[in-house]
Amino acid sequence: MKKKRVVAKEIYTLADLQNWHDVDRPIRLGVFGDPVEHSLSPQMQNAALKHCKIDMQYVRFHISPNELRDAIDLIRKMEFVGVNLTIPHKVAALELLDTPDENVKRVGAVNVIKVEGGKLRGFNTDGRGFARAIRDEFSVDLRDLRVMLLGAGGAARAIALQCAKENCERLVITNRSFEKAQKLADELRDFFAGPKVLGPVARLQAIPLEEGAIRFQIGHIDLVVNATPVGLNRGDPSPIPVRLLAPHVMVYDTIYSAERTPLVSAGIEAGARAANGLSMLLHQGALAFEIWFQREAPIEVMRRAML
Ligand code: NAP
Repeated sequence: MKKKRVVAKEIYTLADLQNWHDVDRPIRLGVFGDPVEHSLSPQMQNAALKHCKIDMQYVRFHISPNELRDAIDLIRKMEFVGVNLTIPHKVAALELLDTPDENVKRVGAVNVIKVEGGKLRGFNTDGRGFARAIRDEFSVDLRDLRVMLLGAGGAARAIALQCAKENCERLVITNRSFEKAQKLADELRDFFAGPKVLGPVARLQAIPLEEGAIRFQIGHIDLVVNATPVGLNRGDPSPIPVRLLAPHVMVYDTIYSAERTPLVSAGIEAGARAANGLSMLLHQGALAFEIWFQREAPIEVMRRAML
């Protein structure tokens, strides 16, 4: 009987993984998400694979939360190189790993899995990707910055930890649920025990997501970062209004769904330098490539592929 061939698809599923012998492509990498259609990772990773003459492909997998365990079991058995995890799997995948690295444990989220000798190693490249993005966009290192972070979820936790590790000048965390901002600040307290202080303000603070509190802080801040999904949907407002921004701040929105997200537009209107999250996506992807292949990622090739 003639073997059934599955034609190249845009999005693969758990059923495809279960019938992998039917898939006629050298797919050894991918991204698990739900939804996953929007992911830009395939174009950037496939450009890198082609440039490095690695005969493999990277594809999107639509995997729902109740399919994650089976999907991860299958990539372990099928000698995948690894996968990226995106919404909503970054936290749930933690308990499925054999060896989470230190970042994964501290952040509580994993975005890169490497399959090695049948074992699953977990990494989180969001924080380092963010640090490289800030250097890329504004030619400045986190250690020289006073940062205000909006959000205390997975992305924010990775960013906050990176700011702490790089010994940034100040970190002010603000979040819709204030207790979560407070808890995150408490977890990072040890990193900020040093004497690097400027003026009357504390090096590490959690503040309510309120106009008065933000207005008070903004004069002591160099970089405002949005790590909430506010701005992702058409019609969303800026997560903080333009009147709270000022020309001296740099504005970074981790959202990359539009070149000018609401926060980026607000920043530009306020006379500030502003960038969206495409550069963070690029650098976290380049770091993932380096983890999988133990070689430098062709960053300019990957950057061009995302445009
Ligand atoms: P998450 O874990 O669900 O956290 C979401 C955070 O946003 C929470 O702190 C939440 O506050 C806050 N939030 C949600 N809706 C809000 C609203 N309407 N008003 C104010 N605050 C709100 O999500 P995540 O994984 O951290 O992702 C956050 C965003 O980061 C995503 O939208 C994505 O665009 C971006 N991201 C970008 C990259 C990149 O490479 N560029 C990588 C990762 C993530 P509560 O605690 O009060 O719920």
